[in-house]
Amino acid sequence: MSNNGKSSKVSGFYKLSVEKRVEFVRNFSDLTEEEKRLFSTCLDMDIADRMIENVLGTFELPLGVAVNFVINGKDYLIPMVTEESSVVAAASNAAKIARIKGGFKTECSNPLMIGQIQILNMDDVASAAQKIMDHKREILQLANAQDKILVDLGGGAKDLEVRILDSPLGKMIVVHLIVDVRDAMGANAVNTMCEALATYLEEITNGKVRLKILSNLADRRIVKAKAVFDKEKMGGEHVVDAFLESYMLASIDPYRAATHNKGIMNGIDALIIATGNDFRAIEAGAHAYAARNGKYTSLTRYHKDKNGDLVGEIELPLAVGIVGGAANMHPKAKLCRKILGIKTAQELAEVVASLGLAQNFAAVLALSTTGIQKGHMSLHAKNIAVMAGAKGEEIDKIAERMIKEKKIKLDRAKEILEGIR
Ligand code: NAD
Repeated sequence: MSNNGKSSKVSGFYKLSVEKRVEFVRNFSDLTEEEKRLFSTCLDMDIADRMIENVLGTFELPLGVAVNFVINGKDYLIPMVTEESSVVAAASNAAKIARIKGGFKTECSNPLMIGQIQILNMDDVASAAQKIMDHKREILQLANAQDKILVDLGGGAKDLEVRILDSPLGKMIVVHLIVDVRDAMGANAVNTMCEALATYLEEITNGKVRLKILSNLADRRIVKAKAVFDKEKMGGEHVVDAFLESYMLASIDPYRAATHNKGIMNGIDALIIATGNDFRAIEAGAHAYAARNGKYTSLTRYHKDKNGDLVGEIELPLAVGIVGGAANMHPKAKLCRKILGIKTAQELAEVVASLGLAQNFAAVLALSTTGIQKGHMSLHAKNIAVMAGAKGEEIDKIAERMIKEKKIKLDRAKEILEGIR
C-alpha cells in the first residue's frame, strides 16, 4: 500500500517541527525546492486582484496535512486548510484505524452536472414539454457547440429531462440539461450552455425563459466511500456499540444530523479549500442531498459486521474540479494537488469523500467515549493564551499550566501571563 513506494503512515507527526513536516511532505510528493518554498509565501497580490473584486489584501489560514490515509490501496497525504483545531489530528487518527482493515474503498459516478432552464408563460405546457423532447438532438448539439474543449475530452451535454412544476404563478417547465464536465467543477461550463439555449427554447415552446443556471444539488455526481474500523483499536466491541447508539440519533433526528454533517464538512471543506474548489457549492449540494427523502438526515451510515468491527459508509454529491475556477489560479491549490498526487477530478472526489467519512468517524468516536472537549483542549488553551496577549514560548507555558489546572479561561491566562512577565 504505497504511493510510489512511499507510505503516508507516520507516528508523532505533530511532534515534528514545521521544517521537518515540510521535508516529509516534500519527500512523499516529490516537491521541488520552489514548491517547498510556497508553503511559507502569501498569495501574490496580482493573482488575488484577478480573482475577486475590490481586493485589499489576502487572508491567511493554516494549511496542515492529514497523514495515514490509504484509499483504494494508494497512500495519500491530505492537505487541509481550516481554522478549527483538532480537525487534522482527528482525520489522521481515523485514517490510522481505517488502514488496519485496508483503508477506504470508494465508488464514483460520472461527473454529471445538472443545468436548469426555467420556462414560463406557455399556453399549453404539456405540448411545449413534448416539443422540447422532440428537439432533444438539436438542443444537445447547440449546448455542445458552446464548449468544444469539453466535447473533445469526452464530456459535454449528454441528456435532457423536462419537468413540469406547479407553482403559485401557474405551471412552469424546468429543463434539466445533463452535462458531463470531466475534470471541471462545471458551473461556468453548464451556465454558458444553459444561457445559449434560452432563445431556441423560447422559439420552440412559445414561452419565456427566466432562470438559466446549474443546480448545486448535483445528485448525478455521487461519490461513495466505505471503511471498516477495527473494534480493538476503537477500544473494544462495547465502544462500537456506544458509537452505534450515538450514530442512531443522527439518523433519526435533524437537530443532531445537522451537527453530525457539520463534522463531516469539517474535513471536506478543509480539502475543498486547499484545492481551490468552491466550498459553498459542496456545502449546498451535501445538505440538499441529506434532505433528499423529505427529511434531513445523516450523510453517513454505520453498522457492525460479523467480526464486531464498525463499518462506515458515506454517500454525497461532490462537484469538484482540478481545472477551471481558482484551481489553476492559486499556486497553493496546485501545490495541494501535487501533494495529493491526484490525476482526475473523480480521484479528488474519492479522497474528499474518504476524508469526510474519516472526520465523521473520529468525531462520533470521541463523542461516544471521552467527549470532544478533551481533544480540543491543547489547541483551545493555546488560542486562549494568544487572546490573553501571550507571545512565543509564553503561549505553550500558559496553555500547559491551564490544562494541568483544568481551568482554561481568559482571566486565568492573563493572570499566568502577568506572573511569567
Ligand atoms: P471554468 O469555466 O473555469 O473551466 C471549465 C472549462 O475548462 C470547461 O468548460 C472546458 O472548456 C475547459 N477544460 C479544459 N480542460 C478540461 C478538463 N480536463 N475537464 C473539463 N474541462 C476542461 O470552470 P467551471 O468548472 O466550469 O466553473 C467553476 C467555477 O464556477 C467556480 O469558480 C465556481 O465557484 C463558479 N460558479 C459556481 C456557481 C454555483 O456553484 N452555483 C455559479 C457560478 C459560478
